[in-house]
Amino acid sequence: MATKLLLTFAICRLIVTVGLTLNPTELLRLGVDGQLSVHPSDVETASLDFGMMNRAQPLAVLHPASSEDVARLVRVAYGSAHGFTVSARGHGHSINGQAQTTKGVVIEMSGSRGRQLGSEGKLGRLLPRVSETERYVDVWGGELWIDVLRATLEYEMAPKSWTDYLYLSVGGTLSNAGISGQAFNHGPQISNVHELDVVTGKGDLMTCSEHQNSELFHAVLGGLGQFGIITRARIALEPAPQRVRWIRVLYSNFTTFTKDQEFLISLHGHPASQKFDYVEGFVIVDEGLINNWRSSFFSPRNPVKITSINANGGVLYCLEITKNYHESNAETIDQVRNRGVVKKLDYISTSVFTTDLPYVDFLDRVHKAELKLRSKGLWEVPHPWLNLFIPKSKISDFDEGVFKGILGNKTSGPILIYPMNKDKWDQRSSVVTPNEEVFYLVAFLRSALDSGDETQSLQYLTNQNRQILRFCDDTGIQAKQYLPHYTTQKEWMDHFGDKWAQFYQRKKEFDPRRILATGQRIFIPSS
Ligand code: FAD
Repeated sequence: MATKLLLTFAICRLIVTVGLTLNPTELLRLGVDGQLSVHPSDVETASLDFGMMNRAQPLAVLHPASSEDVARLVRVAYGSAHGFTVSARGHGHSINGQAQTTKGVVIEMSGSRGRQLGSEGKLGRLLPRVSETERYVDVWGGELWIDVLRATLEYEMAPKSWTDYLYLSVGGTLSNAGISGQAFNHGPQISNVHELDVVTGKGDLMTCSEHQNSELFHAVLGGLGQFGIITRARIALEPAPQRVRWIRVLYSNFTTFTKDQEFLISLHGHPASQKFDYVEGFVIVDEGLINNWRSSFFSPRNPVKITSINANGGVLYCLEITKNYHESNAETIDQVRNRGVVKKLDYISTSVFTTDLPYVDFLDRVHKAELKLRSKGLWEVPHPWLNLFIPKSKISDFDEGVFKGILGNKTSGPILIYPMNKDKWDQRSSVVTPNEEVFYLVAFLRSALDSGDETQSLQYLTNQNRQILRFCDDTGIQAKQYLPHYTTQKEWMDHFGDKWAQFYQRKKEFDPRRILATGQRIFIPSS
């Protein structure tokens, strides 16, 4: 009874606010198995994201119980006289309100019952479901990667390509790309998906893959939620390693650092024994950040004396690499540090740090840091993050102008830097990367604090982000934003470049009323 009242209230709100000409009883007959809610706590959650810089209040929130629920809602939104907007929300870990919507409904994909019921009626079985023989797992679109990992480890299998942080949803990362230090080898997460179930902007529930409805499949991968809502993904698996040997080495010379990173990723086609499984790196502009929040690699009991390594006090660069292994190979792994590929690297010889941990702990490393920051009240603060893809040919210019220039000696958070191979990215997907065979991710993962120190304020950091983007434009660096954020269509057209016409055409085909993921601010919904 209470549910019905809430539902009626939600629908009335939609009708009044959006001016739906639909008969309310028709909406009541929406007949979702999940819950359409206007509860203040649901609305508040859906109004915010990790960035904490945008607030947009939806009219209602749907907790779907199945793909069909998602399809039913989108069909109503699409078919009604004026239409209303619908945004899927994964785990709300966007920075700039990408999963939000006003004048519409947010579908809470994570934590919903849909993951238990899966695509009932389409697949007719529970998710996650692992196929050991064909090495894949079918998961609900709102599933968090940490839960995908747990489910697949029961079969001693695991996905191949990751993000650094696992409390992100499958649908959310596949709408961007999903990258981490494995991407040089396996490509981004969007290169490791066999099949999807997608609810298009017309409310059609379609299965798509490289061979079936392939235009929709490629559109949705990296598609910023513009073409459909992913309700099921079939993700490629490999046998799960048991442990990880994790090595960090330092450089004071940027050219040597990038030469070594590029060498390491050039080994992607080599046998597993000759290459590393993960290649990342970060920039140390100020001494404090050697123990940055993203990992507890350097133990407080064993503090790293950066000053002893960095005699001239300049910027340092940390390369981090890992080797996965099975416990039965523990003896050979001990030799990794002193042999083969590591021997060819040109790091500061006194700066080798090694640790060893279970595979799950390595993959889940950022969550530990999250818990620490939460306990200090430093997690739920504004996050003016900036993620850029920089072409290899321009990375030195970027170092000179930004790491050694614009930043000064304060960063307000970790700065990641690692290269990837473009041939591991499927050009048919919607995502845009620079026009070179190798490009770098540079991620400024900043937290703004009200500490009285102006250089930590949101305004200061936001201005600095603008300065970095302007520097890239002025010096012809041709950076592409990852997890892009623009506010005008002209900027989006520049971002997509040659791919804009295709992106636009796909939008016309799969979401003609432009009702999906309006928080990205790419298209204005048609009334
Ligand atoms: P949301 O923020 O909820 O949604 C993002 C976009 O996808 C929205 O437009 C939304 O409408 C759309 N969307 C959500 N679900 C679906 C769906 N089922 N179908 C279609 N569209 C959907 N990214 C990396 O690549 N690598 C990293 O290592 C990495 N680390 C991170 C660490 C932290 C602490 C944080 C906060 C973010 C990190 N990210 C990383 C960024 C992350 O990939 C994006 O925020 C991404 O959007 C996933 O977050 P989410 O699942 O919460 O999606």
